[in-house]
Amino acid sequence: MADDLIHHWHRGNAWTGAEGGRVGDVFDPATGAVTRTVPLASAAEVDDVVAAAVAAAAEWRSSSLTKRAKTMFAFRELIVRHTDEIAALITSEHGKVLDDARGEVARGLEVVEFACGIPHLLKGSHSESVSTGTDSHSVRQPVGVAAGITPFNFPAMVPLWMFPIAIACGNAFVLKPSERDPSASVRLAELFTEAGLPDGVLSVVHGDREAVDALLTHPSVGAVSFVGSTPIARHVFETAATSGKRVQALGGAKNHMVVLADADLDAAADAAVSAGYGSAGERCMAISVVVAVDAIADELVAKIAERTRTLRVGVGTEPDSDLGPLITGAHRDRVAGYVEAGIAAGAELVVDGRHPEVAGGAAGEGFFLGPCLFDRVDPSMTIYTDEIFGPVLSVVRAPSLADAVSLVNASPYGNGVALFTRDGAAARWFEAEVEVGMVGINVPIPVPMAFYSFGGWGQSLFGDTHVHGPEGVSFYTRGKVVTTRWGVPAELGTAPSSLDLHFPTNR
Ligand code: NAD
Repeated sequence: MADDLIHHWHRGNAWTGAEGGRVGDVFDPATGAVTRTVPLASAAEVDDVVAAAVAAAAEWRSSSLTKRAKTMFAFRELIVRHTDEIAALITSEHGKVLDDARGEVARGLEVVEFACGIPHLLKGSHSESVSTGTDSHSVRQPVGVAAGITPFNFPAMVPLWMFPIAIACGNAFVLKPSERDPSASVRLAELFTEAGLPDGVLSVVHGDREAVDALLTHPSVGAVSFVGSTPIARHVFETAATSGKRVQALGGAKNHMVVLADADLDAAADAAVSAGYGSAGERCMAISVVVAVDAIADELVAKIAERTRTLRVGVGTEPDSDLGPLITGAHRDRVAGYVEAGIAAGAELVVDGRHPEVAGGAAGEGFFLGPCLFDRVDPSMTIYTDEIFGPVLSVVRAPSLADAVSLVNASPYGNGVALFTRDGAAARWFEAEVEVGMVGINVPIPVPMAFYSFGGWGQSLFGDTHVHGPEGVSFYTRGKVVTTRWGVPAELGTAPSSLDLHFPTNR
């Protein structure tokens, strides 16, 4: 039974949603119990929220840059102070271990810190005398109302990729977080209001497809940021773009880690296990395929297997747990189904995590699955082709670096990739040739810092702007160039003027 009803966050006041509306269940994945209920907004409710955002945006856009920066700094302090509390909320609904949850808050915080520099980020440029007596300057203005739709796997960090920058740029923002773990978003909105953000500038509306589609087609929403799976990213991109909005829709991933014979194999094995099984593989930048090049495959697989067997599966609040449960029972069963499919297709299951010992919990009822390692995976198998989004790591063997890169480039996804080597020339060639948006050299999860922008290629991103960093600022603003001619001061006379129907050229 649910013991807690989650609220929408609307005009700075908790708002439960219309009486008798649809609701969804929020689970504690470690126990399998329903712990909270989340309202699922109707299109009419979304309309209400957007109307309030339009009114708030009209005022907020003319707030001073100093006020926006100060609000952002105050928000930063509140997040720092409440990190443990937000992390606990994340673990209670997502299941990831507490330390991992704290890490996600810390990475989201870095975007808030980037947004604190908004006065500098929004500086335009000015050119004197672009033509005789004529000057030009550029400004970036907010789009008005921006919307964000976010996935379950980073309930704090992914929303923080979006709304701090959009709001610092002078927009109002409507966030539709994942209905599976919605509480962290509401807590962040409360803290932003406590930091001094005016009512209506940030709203959190919960829901499913009905709420999302209402946002995607709403005439008053100017920009849509989405992060989630590839099929929904494509739907979001097509629907919002057809409605005339700018869209950035980040999709799924299948990230490779290529290991050359000259690499430090212990470091590579540590990296593969950390990046493959961290957060139970529910990260869009998780490594899901290790490509072992040339003769090192047996040694590398042995090192990965040895480390994988030491991992402790457990409840996220247990300090000793390395990985927690998956998000839902249905998802755990889907991931386990891929393990069965891999075995049936002839891959070698080196480490079998299907029946894990679970520390600190009722193993039978939580959504746990232990780490699984496959060797001799063929690129035709579904464990290779599909995004599994669970603790399943596949090893593919490739004869050369060029073959490994061809394999990576044939994947429809292009989110992240890593190369492990001590050979600078190989690394340079790899970096130039690989068709992936985020590349790590001896770094397994190359998530860009907040002052760069995050995004993949191929079916990992629909649209052309990456999130946060400089591209985030340009996504949430529209450029305007003003060309000005004042003539001469009246006391000095009159500037010459004549009729001239020619196309204006500069001489
Ligand atoms: P999802 O696509 O199921 O859901 C994402 C959001 O879309 C949620 O808010 C959900 O309510 C909404 N949604 C779901 N179905 C919808 C529909 N039919 N119409 C409209 N909206 C719908 O994704 P998820 O399971 O929450 O998250 C995991 C996925 O997100 C993985 O594929 C992962 O790779 C991806 N992801 C990508 C990145 C990235 O940066 N590229 C980052 C994190 C997660």
